[in-house]
Amino acid sequence: MNFHFTEQQRSVIHLAREFAEHELAPGAAQRDEHERFDRGLFARLGELGLTGVPLPRSHGGRGLDFVAYAGVIEELSKVCASTGVMLSVHTSLVGWTLFQYGTEEQKRKFLLPVAEGSMLGAYSLTESGSGSDAGAMRTSAVKQGSSYILNGTKIFVTNAGEADLYIVFAVTDFQQRTRGCSAFIIEKGTPGFHVGKKEKKLGIRSSSTRELIFEDCRVPAFHLLGQEGEGFKIALAALDGGRIGIAAQALGIAQAAFDAAITWTKSRKQAAPEIAMESILAEMAAHIEAARLLAYQAAWRKSAGLPYRTFSSIAKLFASDTAMRVTSDAVQLLAQDPVTNTSAVERYFRDAKVTQIYEGTNEIQRLVISRMLLAD
Ligand SMILES: Cc1cc2nc3c(=O)[nH]c(=O)nc-3n(C[C@H](O)[C@H](O)[C@H](O)COP(=O)(O)OP(=O)(O)OC[C@H]3O[C@@H](n4cnc5c(N)ncnc54)[C@H](O)[C@@H]3O)c2cc1C
Repeated sequence: MNFHFTEQQRSVIHLAREFAEHELAPGAAQRDEHERFDRGLFARLGELGLTGVPLPRSHGGRGLDFVAYAGVIEELSKVCASTGVMLSVHTSLVGWTLFQYGTEEQKRKFLLPVAEGSMLGAYSLTESGSGSDAGAMRTSAVKQGSSYILNGTKIFVTNAGEADLYIVFAVTDFQQRTRGCSAFIIEKGTPGFHVGKKEKKLGIRSSSTRELIFEDCRVPAFHLLGQEGEGFKIALAALDGGRIGIAAQALGIAQAAFDAAITWTKSRKQAAPEIAMESILAEMAAHIEAARLLAYQAAWRKSAGLPYRTFSSIAKLFASDTAMRVTSDAVQLLAQDPVTNTSAVERYFRDAKVTQIYEGTNEIQRLVISRMLLAD
């Protein structure tokens, strides 16, 4: 593993940093306060070529790797974690999944606009009573001629309502449990497909999280992604890669809180910080550096074609716990600060929590990791 970014990786990460500082930062606090998703920001990411960083050029992407992609997500999340997860879901759960499992025709019709940024993507697995236990899903898809008819309700869908294209998982054979699950590509505006209530959230408040409702929703059989019965495998493979994005998002949040803590400590009037404060800063730095190595290691393994499921789970577990710990300590330190950055640090603290929950809670990451270790 090379610890230096290549020129191309450095250049795209720099582009993301410039965009984050000049275009994301100014409205981040207001978007959070008003729970406002800004579709214009996604359009700008597309214009800058940041909506398909690890996807091949032949399919509308930038042709870089997952290390560059993780760097982009980290930079965006330092400033606005809601934008970080919007792009992470779009790229790794949707773009990569279409690339990996789509037919050439599906790639032409759906992957190209996703990678170029003219279509925003969403991924919908979770249902009420079927989060960690995804195999308990109830949404059904019944084949009727050359279509499938979907019925059911999904919850907690990132980018929902704003997205143009959804990868939705539904059961085509209830006898087969997880082997009876299939994946579908569903476009916004398909009759029988409705967007439900918007979630009010603690953090990532400018990310759109909503329900999806399917009522006799007719989907052409051509929109089946992969083979019938392959949905569960596709869902889990998508999450393996998605967790690299979440680890990078958590890392960005932690780094931002740490930077604020350093700025504040340096600005204090005392000649030297107290020992307790020095110790907190050192612990923060150590955890962030470890999280960074884990996140980029997982990204590098995926790019190199090496097994990475255990590594992306470890990275997501450690980076999200680090984000929670570092932001909590930053809030504690800056509690004495009457002016500087308090509200941004409070936002980082709220944003950190969900990184321990989505794309598999950290309890589930521990199960994934231990099962992989014991299987080995
Ligand atoms: C803001 C947000 C955005 C989201 N975006 C998406 C999205 O885009 N697409 C999507 O499909 N889903 C999305 N989710 C759903 C998310 O992935 C689930 O919330 C998560 O998988 C947990 O499922 P659950 O909420 O049903 O909790 P449950 O599965 O009910 O778990 C509740 C608690 O029990 C623990 N637990 C459950 N099973 C076990 C076990 N076997 N061993 C130990 N502990 C266990 C969990 O860790 C958790 O602490 C999102 C969630 C949030 C909050």
